[in-house]
Amino acid sequence: DTSLVEIRGLNVDFATDNGTVHALRDVSLSIGRHSVIGLVGESGSGKSTLALALLGLLPDNTQRISGEIAFGGKNLLALDPGELRRLRGTRIAMIFQDPMTALNPVFTLGTQLVDAQRSRHPELGRRELLARAARMLARVGISDPEKRLWAYPHQFSGGMRQRVMIAMALLCEPDILIADEPTTALDVTIEAQIVRLLKELHAEFHGSIVFVSHSLGLISEICDEVAVMYAGKIVESGPVGSLFSRPSHPYTQALLACEIDPADAPGERLVTIPGGLPDLVNVPSGCIFADRCPSRFAKCGEEPPPRPVAPGHAAACWLVP
Ligand code: ATP
Ligand code: MG
Repeated sequence: DTSLVEIRGLNVDFATDNGTVHALRDVSLSIGRHSVIGLVGESGSGKSTLALALLGLLPDNTQRISGEIAFGGKNLLALDPGELRRLRGTRIAMIFQDPMTALNPVFTLGTQLVDAQRSRHPELGRRELLARAARMLARVGISDPEKRLWAYPHQFSGGMRQRVMIAMALLCEPDILIADEPTTALDVTIEAQIVRLLKELHAEFHGSIVFVSHSLGLISEICDEVAVMYAGKIVESGPVGSLFSRPSHPYTQALLACEIDPADAPGERLVTIPGGLPDLVNVPSGCIFADRCPSRFAKCGEEPPPRPVAPGHAAACWLVP
């Protein structure tokens, strides 16, 4: 059972006026075939950087990338821009927090949904691509799809636009769908509907999903695997059941303790743990969480490697026996 994507020792640095930001440090993660993996962690922990690295879409001020992202026998980090673009049209797709970053306001949905499929299905003509688009719109819950093909993005609500984005991504029949906080801008009712839709669609399509979220609650609903990120590192990862029943890194434990039930506090979704992320320009030595950790002890001056907790489950903490 080989995995779909194998990330090994990934480092990403950004150049800024204040120095080099070490946004990802020695990140290793494997993404199984037909799995849903969640990336969770506070703002600034490196979730989007990891998602963008997978897409080959890191920003222009990226100063250094090292390590390996093995996918289909190739190292994504070694591909040229043309090869990456082809992969994004056919094997890797993304849905963003704000669908308007991906939808063009001046073109009809039909035109955009046809263009999105061109590199995947060069053998099909416009009429056939439009028919596929309409069927996919219906599948993501958009009524009157044939008519909607002639509409413009601004004629849709936020939740409907996100459904359109999902349709656009799935029309490429990707091996991997990356969803970077796709529901953060939506209210909780719509959010729940979109998460349910993604879950249903995952059962029907052959690919894997990388689901980025602040919310462990959402992660537990849709994901099989979780990677908990903190300050550019994966501090704990494993199957959802194991990670929730035996959270073993103090950061994961703190995240779980802070999780707010949306039913109790509508609109509250930010996790708060005392203290802030460390400086990613001058990264402190030793355990990256030591500063905020209630359980730190002398050994934490040394950086802990991932230590096995259970099958497939590891935490980078010296407290793991
Ligand atoms: P959020 O939950 O807010 O989306 P995130 O986990 O996605 O956060 P990233 O956006 O990956 O975090 O950012 C990781 C770190 O890299 C942060 O310190 C951020 O400020 C920094 N960073 C991200 N993009 C750039 C950039 N283009 N130039 C400089 N620093 C950047
Ligand atoms: Mg982000």
